[in-house]
Amino acid sequence: MKIAVFPGTFDPITNGHIDIVKKALPLFDKIIIAIGDNATKNRMFSLDQRLEWLEEVFGKEDRVEVTSYKGLTIDFCKKENASFILRGLRSVKDFEYEEQIAQVNKELSPDIETVFVLASQEYGFISSTIVRDLIVHGGDYKRYLPTVVKIDSSNL
Ligand code: ADP
Repeated sequence: MKIAVFPGTFDPITNGHIDIVKKALPLFDKIIIAIGDNATKNRMFSLDQRLEWLEEVFGKEDRVEVTSYKGLTIDFCKKENASFILRGLRSVKDFEYEEQIAQVNKELSPDIETVFVLASQEYGFISSTIVRDLIVHGGDYKRYLPTVVKIDSSNL
């Protein structure tokens, strides 16, 4: 069984993330979307909130699982019997960053292959960081997010 882990922060999930999962589904039997729970980083949305949104988006897709993990992504992959790490690529900047991580992961764990899926043109400029900026400064962020993501004083 071909299992891929799609690790990320998903703070919050955007249409760009959804696009990557949709394009990768034909390549794998199962995709585990896994939020890296790294306590040292500040997040806009709680882990529970981010998980809930992922569940709402992918709950009906039985080949997609949603969870979180602590520690190294490769250790989580081994625990889940996943041989692939899925990442999205938007730009050369993404590539430079991703290449480093993928090379280190390959060295530490030669059996796990990182697979990159290119962002579609219409989503290539969307990032959670830009969406968070729009949220903070009152810009129209809704067009970049799935409709299940509802932001109000209860989760900000
Ligand atoms: P991280 O903090 O690990 O980069 P993110 O949630 O920001 O977590 O991103 C998770 C993955 O989704 C990364 O591989 C990133 O390149 C990819 N990604 C994010 N936004 C987009 C997008 N608009 N189009 C394609 N891939 C994207």
